[in-house]
Amino acid sequence: MIRKFTIDETCLDDANNPAVTTVGVSNHHIHLCRADMEVLFGKGYELTPKKPLTQPGQFAAEETLTVVGTKAMIEKVRILGPLRNETQVELSETEARMAGIEALLRDSGDLEGTLGCILMGPNGHLVLEHGVICAATHLHLHTDEAARLGIKDHQRVDIYIRSDNKSGCLFDVPARVGELHAKDLHIDTDEANTFKINANSRALILLNENKQ
Ligand SMILES: [Zn+2]
Repeated sequence: MIRKFTIDETCLDDANNPAVTTVGVSNHHIHLCRADMEVLFGKGYELTPKKPLTQPGQFAAEETLTVVGTKAMIEKVRILGPLRNETQVELSETEARMAGIEALLRDSGDLEGTLGCILMGPNGHLVLEHGVICAATHLHLHTDEAARLGIKDHQRVDIYIRSDNKSGCLFDVPARVGELHAKDLHIDTDEANTFKINANSRALILLNENKQ
């Protein structure tokens, strides 16, 4: 049986509605571990914060790198701080294909079995054996916001995205809940282009009792 699926659009205009979220577009970026950073930038180097991100404590750095694939290079890929235990390169599917790099669809930090690329920095280059991903869409929620919505960490929710031009749904989006998270739906540039996302775009978190 086909069921009609309706969304109450007026919900999205209520700024106080806890189920309404902003939509953050993650451009390609790189997280570095200290050892890899020192190969690329030199021993004892420290990243220079350029601007804070929506997630508390995270920042876009002044530094960028060139990502090299078998078909093309992607220049000026921004590094995000702080440093992590493992280097991770996040590309959209479109640019990974154009560069000749295989980026598996993964949650951030889930790097087992992923493939690599070459990174070029001002002090040298690095053959990254693994760590290239196409980051899966996810919803960040602070612990208090999640509690208000009755959503647990890693729970999958459905999302309705409304933009001025195109609207649509994303299903089974995992929530990331914690004290160091702030409410924001993170999509990549391919999804942003699909929905023609702009600064006014908002999303509605749809709770599905059948999903945990
Ligand atoms: Zn995120």
